[in-house]
Amino acid sequence: MSNSNQINGLKAAAAFSLSEDIISVDAFGSGHINDTYRVTTKNTHGKSFLLQRINHYIFQNVDGLMLNIKHVTDHLKTKIAHLPPEVQESRVLTIIPTKSNDLYHLDDDGNYWRMFILIDDTKSYDVVETTVQASEGGKAFGQFQLQLADLDASQIVEVLPNFHNIQFRLDNLNRAIAADAHNRVKEVSDILDFISSREDRMKTILNLAAQGKLPLRITHNDTKFNNVLLDQNDQAQCVIDLDTVMPGYVAYDFGDAIRTIINPVEEDEKDLSKIVLNIPLYAAYAEGYLNEAKEFLTDVEVHSLLEGVFLLPYMQGVRFLTDYLEGDHYFKTKYNDHNLVRTKTQFKLVEEMERQEEELKSAISSVLQD
Ligand code: ADP
Ligand code: MG
Ligand code: MG
Repeated sequence: MSNSNQINGLKAAAAFSLSEDIISVDAFGSGHINDTYRVTTKNTHGKSFLLQRINHYIFQNVDGLMLNIKHVTDHLKTKIAHLPPEVQESRVLTIIPTKSNDLYHLDDDGNYWRMFILIDDTKSYDVVETTVQASEGGKAFGQFQLQLADLDASQIVEVLPNFHNIQFRLDNLNRAIAADAHNRVKEVSDILDFISSREDRMKTILNLAAQGKLPLRITHNDTKFNNVLLDQNDQAQCVIDLDTVMPGYVAYDFGDAIRTIINPVEEDEKDLSKIVLNIPLYAAYAEGYLNEAKEFLTDVEVHSLLEGVFLLPYMQGVRFLTDYLEGDHYFKTKYNDHNLVRTKTQFKLVEEMERQEEELKSAISSVLQD
């Protein structure tokens, strides 16, 4: 961490309501959106705190975002009110308010900061390695949705409007094609055919929703595996990274988790022959998820899960391709056709899923038959 970041972090940490003196502020974790620091204080219980500079270029409504997190964590805590306070603090994020009792601190440079209790003795994995981890991840997100099923959705702000709306993403792609600002459309005609031949299927969730057949719920919307903390025995402890909690459809959370779990290689793997679906990890996640979620999911929602599995890599491919056509200004790139390579890995995933659709389907139905 650079010196100036360290000083900014120290200054920001001082704005929060901590009962003990701060000893150090150090870079922490491996998130890609916010800047995250561990704050160590001079106390006898060894409790640490987590300071984050919120990425307010992505999240422009910081008030709405922090109120969302407050509503959600307060609600989740009511579900575990019977547990001792220190256990509650390890299962649900706890916001530390500022000295003036606000949910965030705005510094003189226009940076937004917030603080949580740091949940110690936990691990967050960037890549899932075992079926136990996959199943625990599914369980954590299933429980998260279950416990939020009775929270009044009208209290929750849509911090990133249309985030998982495929019509919105396709409209953006079509604008990029029409503009063709970098003269790249001619290279991608096969991919554009791939996209248009699947458009109808990919709108299934939107259509079901428009017909009133899918309930709008509170969903996480960033169900990457490193957003679940596991304990030292790989048991799920806590769902974190609540910035994107918004009204949504359960299939989006399921599909986005599967998108990374089922893919054995990096998002920018060039050798597409290496993209072979990891069905055991998929089945383990589905089992962990459904064992929690079957309690509240409707039949139509259960049916929608598989559509989410297809949709999320498709939508991610559409987003990478749009950025490629627009000249790579959203996703960070390391070489000229980086976004095109990423596009192809996502669509290869979709193709493999189509080939193994029966296996994907039966992993879901076998859990529900038990
Ligand atoms: P980002 O949006 O940048 O991914 P996260 O909120 O996910 O930010 O935080 C980044 C990383 O910091 C997480 O992947 C996790 O390893 C760690 N982390 C975040 N919150 C906590 C917490 N309360 N306790 C322990 N570790 C945490
Ligand atoms: Mg994260
Ligand atoms: Mg995040």
